[in-house]
Amino acid sequence: MISNDIQGIGMTSQRTRDRLVDRLRDKGIKNESVLEVIRTTPRHIFVDEAMAHRAYEDTALPIGHGQTISQPYIVARMSEILLEGGTPDVVLEVGTGSGYQSAILSRLVPKVYTVERISALLQKARDAHRKMGLMNVFSKHSDGSWGWEPNAPYAAIMVTAAPKTVPPSLLQQLAVGGRMVIPVGSSGGVQELKLYLRTADGIEESTLEIVNFVPLLDGAVR
Ligand code: SAH
Repeated sequence: MISNDIQGIGMTSQRTRDRLVDRLRDKGIKNESVLEVIRTTPRHIFVDEAMAHRAYEDTALPIGHGQTISQPYIVARMSEILLEGGTPDVVLEVGTGSGYQSAILSRLVPKVYTVERISALLQKARDAHRKMGLMNVFSKHSDGSWGWEPNAPYAAIMVTAAPKTVPPSLLQQLAVGGRMVIPVGSSGGVQELKLYLRTADGIEESTLEIVNFVPLLDGAVR
């Protein structure tokens, strides 16, 4: 079916994607590399066929298993924040979900590691990455609150599900000079998007904006 094709047509066409980028610019996204990658990445292959016609709306969409593909604004904003310190050589993403955020990152940085606790979602994300021909995304089925130790430290970490408090392993796996962007708070309650910077002296924390993510959950499941 055409809507599942990378190029897209009608509601998944290039013109529709251009309009999404105009909207993100209006909402304050400034990093031109991020905007260009969003403009040229097919989001519709990361959602079910029945949702493809809504893929270029600036909204989160269901991807099954009670999870969502993040809103494009949030994908752009979090990517932009990670790049503000310069291009990190390696990024760890926690919460692969649809694989869209990792696909965007893979076109902005040399290497992306991503961890997902729901195996069925990870399989689909890997299929979409294969379809795009991405060679620099490495993924693992696991509880990402433990990070991914053997590849640490990371110049950047992006968490796309909200814990109530920041998992200590993630802070430990952040390189000196590295930055982590993470939503913190209870689902249904108020969540804050936080930025953690590891300096030679310790950790600096700042709060960026109010957000709404699915919860970071314990353990890995089929
Ligand atoms: N970045 C994703 C957003 C998906 S929603 C995208 O671009 O589509 C967040 C994802 O985090 C969900 O798929 C959920 O299953 C996953 N998740 C929640 N807790 C997790 C954990 N402890 N470890 C790894 N993944 C987790």
